[in-house]
Amino acid sequence: MRKTELTRFRKLLQEEKDRVTSSLAKHEKIIKHTDDQSGLETGKAHSNHMADQGSDEFQYETTIKTANTEGRYLYNIEEALVRIEDGSYGKCIECNKAIGIPRLKRLPYTRMCIECKEKDEAGTL
Ligand SMILES: [Zn+2]
Repeated sequence: MRKTELTRFRKLLQEEKDRVTSSLAKHEKIIKHTDDQSGLETGKAHSNHMADQGSDEFQYETTIKTANTEGRYLYNIEEALVRIEDGSYGKCIECNKAIGIPRLKRLPYTRMCIECKEKDEAGTL
């Protein structure tokens, strides 16, 4: 991969990392707050009594699920940044061939080329 491309992917991943990190921090704050006070932080103190218990719980569950997804996503982004630094970024971890640039543009943190990913998902790798 050309250095200019690598620099562009590093910037893209860094921006995505910052975005997900702050979003995750916000969700973790909501989860922690809910654990502490068994009520969601709505930012509007007077709206608390309007929300029924059921929707609060649903929102809490959704927030936990979102935070979990973000946590995994963040892990993948951080790993990709490490691979940029050690020079293995853009190469498939299975067949060691270059992952296509269009695929990396869609999934900058991917570790497998499309062929290996398809095999992996089909369970034939
Ligand atoms: Zn491959």
